[in-house]
Amino acid sequence: MAQIILLGTGAALSDETREHTYLVAKGKQSAILIDCAGSPVQRLIKADVALDRVDHLLLTHHHPDHIYGVSVFLLDLWLAGRKKVLHIHGLAETLRAVRAMMRAFEWRRWFKFGFFPVEFHRIPPRPRAALITTPEFSISTAPTMHLLPTVAVRVTSHTSKKSITYSSDTQVCAPVVNLARGSDILFHEATTLNTSNHGHTSARQAGAQAQRADARKLVLVHLPPHCDTKKWRAAAQKTFRGQIVVGKDLARFEF
Ligand SMILES: [Zn+2]
Ligand SMILES: [Zn+2]
Repeated sequence: MAQIILLGTGAALSDETREHTYLVAKGKQSAILIDCAGSPVQRLIKADVALDRVDHLLLTHHHPDHIYGVSVFLLDLWLAGRKKVLHIHGLAETLRAVRAMMRAFEWRRWFKFGFFPVEFHRIPPRPRAALITTPEFSISTAPTMHLLPTVAVRVTSHTSKKSITYSSDTQVCAPVVNLARGSDILFHEATTLNTSNHGHTSARQAGAQAQRADARKLVLVHLPPHCDTKKWRAAAQKTFRGQIVVGKDLARFEF
């Protein structure tokens, strides 16, 4: 059975209980990291994900709360003895930002000392773009409506045939609903409670997105500091008839 483990659930401004929102899809043999914040290696260890199982890192956009962990993730994988390639997927703008960040750390010097190979793969900014097929998972993406180019991500387990979708950062938009259609679980951002915020979604709107997508379960992520979880759940319940969970760091979901 595959799992999604929430490594963090906070919005850009978070609090002491939540790292920024990022997650890992864990199969029997492999794992795919989606966004990279906080202390990725420590969180993967807590999530029981062996570091050498992670061959793909998918980055949804280049706001700092979604990519600032990349530099220390690469450094730590190297220190942990990694030799094999890591594939990093992102929109052209995201990959440009990651390369610039790594240049600031003069990572080219690392290659003189046996740093492992990194391959960059550009995500096409198209709705329902098929991206990666591994022995355990298929991944597709779709552009969201956010403050800069961003993709939502759908992960399908080949074992269960079930899918989950992660909205990343977005305001209410049809491409995310279309990508998420019939997902077992929709992990949707809910940066505010009821009021819509430019480029983001409220808990109430996230419920409506899950209802339109006919998702079975809604998990709210990208939560603001000291978020009142009862209020967030109640707001989403006004618009979604399925099961609602307010995400917590290191929560696990089977699919
Ligand atoms: Zn964010
Ligand atoms: Zn963002």
